[in-house]
Amino acid sequence: MDYSTDVVVAGGGPAGLMTGLLLARAGVEVIVLEKHEDFLRDFRGDTIHPATQHLLGRIGLIEEFLARNHSDTPRITLSWQGEEMTLAEFTHLRTSRATMTFMPQWDFLDLLASAAAELPTFRLMRSTRVDSLLRAGRRVSGVSATGPDGPVRIRARLVIGADGRDSTVRELAGLTPQGRAAAMDVLWFRLPKEADRDYAAIQAGAGMIITLDRGAFLQVAHVIPAGDWAGTEGDMVQLRERIATINPRMGRAVEKLQPSDIHLLRVRLERLRRWYTDGLLCIGDAAHAMSPAGGVGVNLAIQDAVAAARLLAPVLRSRAPRPSDLRRVQRRRSLPARLTQRVQRMLQPALLASRDARAPMPWSLRQLRHHPQLARLTGRVVGIGFRPEYEAPEPIR
Ligand SMILES: Cc1cc2nc3c(=O)[nH]c(=O)nc-3n(C[C@H](O)[C@H](O)[C@H](O)COP(=O)(O)OP(=O)(O)OC[C@H]3O[C@@H](n4cnc5c(N)ncnc54)[C@H](O)[C@@H]3O)c2cc1C
Repeated sequence: MDYSTDVVVAGGGPAGLMTGLLLARAGVEVIVLEKHEDFLRDFRGDTIHPATQHLLGRIGLIEEFLARNHSDTPRITLSWQGEEMTLAEFTHLRTSRATMTFMPQWDFLDLLASAAAELPTFRLMRSTRVDSLLRAGRRVSGVSATGPDGPVRIRARLVIGADGRDSTVRELAGLTPQGRAAAMDVLWFRLPKEADRDYAAIQAGAGMIITLDRGAFLQVAHVIPAGDWAGTEGDMVQLRERIATINPRMGRAVEKLQPSDIHLLRVRLERLRRWYTDGLLCIGDAAHAMSPAGGVGVNLAIQDAVAAARLLAPVLRSRAPRPSDLRRVQRRRSLPARLTQRVQRMLQPALLASRDARAPMPWSLRQLRHHPQLARLTGRVVGIGFRPEYEAPEPIR
């Protein structure tokens, strides 16, 4: 099948769906291609930041958002070898909702996709994987993809690569991210709810675990030094010992886990020098793969989407964007991505230090313990970020 549209977006994650929704509201024709059939993947982050919720209020989606199953966390707490402290406080933020909210990412994506589906200018093609770029001379002029009914070709004024940290579109365009491997990896596994009752979101001691309540089960992230996990029986033994030391109730539940229950996230901190080429723009993790440290990747992806839609919608309604139009998006968004990655890199030693039970509390945590008001600053950095984007393009009525 052949299609022609204003914008084709590769990837129906937070960046791709928010860009699609905002552009379609602004009267730009958009097709979003998502390789999966649904959004039901649990290898995802669940944090919806105060800044994202403020934006949802501005675009009239906050009530539908709050109608879905969610839990609010006005502050993130850490238990360091049993000593509790507040890592990030959100209650003072001047956003419409001063709280971090946890919602399974598939519900959040479903909210965006459902809102977009009401617009005549929006189309989401699921189970459709982008596999090559179309070109007109040197300019990218669309994509070819494989959908449930076979090959699809879509010509467009602009291709947006929002296909995540292993972006196919980025590679096809010859854009290579730069960066160093992160010092940490993350093990990601589920535990039954009764494995814990009253936990701090982050628990440290013989390592660090971050727990997300996903309703029917607990999703646990355990930070380990990069390259430390091969999934051997020896690795499993060490994992069980560490979790049991951090939290004995969880330790008992971990006994039942098999290596195949554990997903390894190889953390990468990298970004593109140039986010665009003629006819194509990368945003979100495709432009800057974030570490899960601080749980800020979704917020950054959303903010890229807002800036891209605001800066490009007026252009897209009348013509194909020029590289100079795409450069404006990168100029707007690269500083927040760089600063956030710098903070994430600084956090790594503190995240890893807790593995040695005799290790002193890292300097950054000691500062938070002595100056609890600093948690308001970390709350701002995590909850809002360095350059919040609240101005969506005006909708066409
Ligand atoms: C285990 C884990 C935990 C995390 N925890 C958090 C957290 O708590 N908070 C937080 O803010 N961030 C977290 N993150 C990071 C966060 O999920 C990402 O930064 C964010 O999802 C980036 O959004 P995105 O839209 O740019 O990319 P993605 O969310 O990766 O979305 C890309 C989409 O593109 C699709 N796709 C890929 N290739 C193709 C193709 N060729 N054709 C069509 N579709 C394609 C994928 O299926 C996917 O749906 C976590 C990440 C992981 C892996």
